[in-house]
Amino acid sequence: MYQALYLKSRPLVFGDVRGQDHITVSLRRQSEQGRLSHAYLFIGSRGTGKTTCARILARAACCESLSGGDPCNKCPACESILSESAVDVVEIDGATYTGVDDIRAVRDELAYTPAALRRKVYIIDEVHMLSVSAFNALLKSLEEPPPHVLFILATTEPHKLPATVVSRCQRFRFARLSPEIIADRLQVLAKTEGAVLAPDAAALLAESADGSMRDGISLLDQCLAASGGLPVDTPSVRKLLGLTGSPDIRDWLGLIIEGNTAAALAKLDEMYAGGAEPPVLLEQLALLLRSALMDALRGKAAALPAERAVDMLTQLRGFAAGKTSGIGRRIDAELCVIKLCSLAAAPTVPPAARTEPPPSAPAPAAESAARTQPAPAPPAAERPAPPPGDILSRVAAEAGPLCAGYLESARIEETPSGLRVTVYDEFAAKMLRESDFTARLAAKFPGEHRVIAGEPPAPALRSLDALAQDNKGIVTEI
Ligand SMILES: [Zn+2]
Repeated sequence: MYQALYLKSRPLVFGDVRGQDHITVSLRRQSEQGRLSHAYLFIGSRGTGKTTCARILARAACCESLSGGDPCNKCPACESILSESAVDVVEIDGATYTGVDDIRAVRDELAYTPAALRRKVYIIDEVHMLSVSAFNALLKSLEEPPPHVLFILATTEPHKLPATVVSRCQRFRFARLSPEIIADRLQVLAKTEGAVLAPDAAALLAESADGSMRDGISLLDQCLAASGGLPVDTPSVRKLLGLTGSPDIRDWLGLIIEGNTAAALAKLDEMYAGGAEPPVLLEQLALLLRSALMDALRGKAAALPAERAVDMLTQLRGFAAGKTSGIGRRIDAELCVIKLCSLAAAPTVPPAARTEPPPSAPAPAAESAARTQPAPAPPAAERPAPPPGDILSRVAAEAGPLCAGYLESARIEETPSGLRVTVYDEFAAKMLRESDFTARLAAKFPGEHRVIAGEPPAPALRSLDALAQDNKGIVTEI
């Protein structure tokens, strides 16, 4: 029987899990020292290794011959869990078993000692889907668990969990995986499958996986099936993903930057007729615009000024937020293109605070120059001292025109080490981090300043997030 590459390639020991070292090192140490907690909560977006780690942890908790905290995967206990025949290891899908009766059944079973293994392990995936009454039943179990019971809860949406459940678990936050980590893994897997995967094809797959190893591997699986033994290259990946070639998108962006609405709409028509999906096209356009913006921010020659790119990206993101379906998508995309062209054609208001680096400055020195600050110094000297007032307006005054927009819904705290700026959006945080924002802050406020992305302002989540940040992703038991 054909087995999906993702299942076949699932890591069997902690050391094989990619990109989550902050978690796997800690879990392996706890396992080695025999100091496992009775309840864990794994938080993270899809495909980041939560279930994989839960299963390794379940085996480590029951293994008869641990090796350095890792399960041996050979003893009868490990084998029975691997073959999914162990009655003492129960996997529950929160999305299916949402009722209180299911959790009560679990609770009633807890009193009995394990049938064959050292421990009874309950892995509850998507635990946020449980009903309120199911949570209450679960809470009772978490409060006074018998010593032989191990709970591993996993969720993509921790803010939907009652704080009382969260606080009874040792919590770990799984990071979104970088495209480099995913691309590396895809290369290794392709090789073990006896296939050739071009490096830029691996990079394109990794980019499309959006931080999820599972999605990346599934895409590779599809590519391998479609390739019929031929090397997997960029055009074949593009075809599979329904992406249009980047020359087309580059031309399209060129027309938009020129403000040539009629030609930009005609180009959209042409690509649409070729089978491209409007949301995918706009997404590709956004990626290209983003790299133009990054070039502009780093002082490289860019296709358009940074302020303009920010305006256009904001417009594109607005389109992505209001995604419609069917024919509406095409009309929305056309309206979006018209808006973008008018933004591009609008006269530029030269921002007072931004001065271009002198053209004589050698290009390679630009970055280090920005760090040692001769470049930002003149505007800082010209500007008056930050106005007295609340910390947010003082920081906003330092932010410069490019960054100020991202601070609109920000929360700023003064910590012993420096300022902590929380913006409710990963994109905004990234933009601020990649700009000279913290350097500008450092010129006016003492200490080390950090920009972090918070999440929607739900109290339970926000405090969790702050804890996770303070502990580099590991929230330890309370
Ligand atoms: Zn074992």
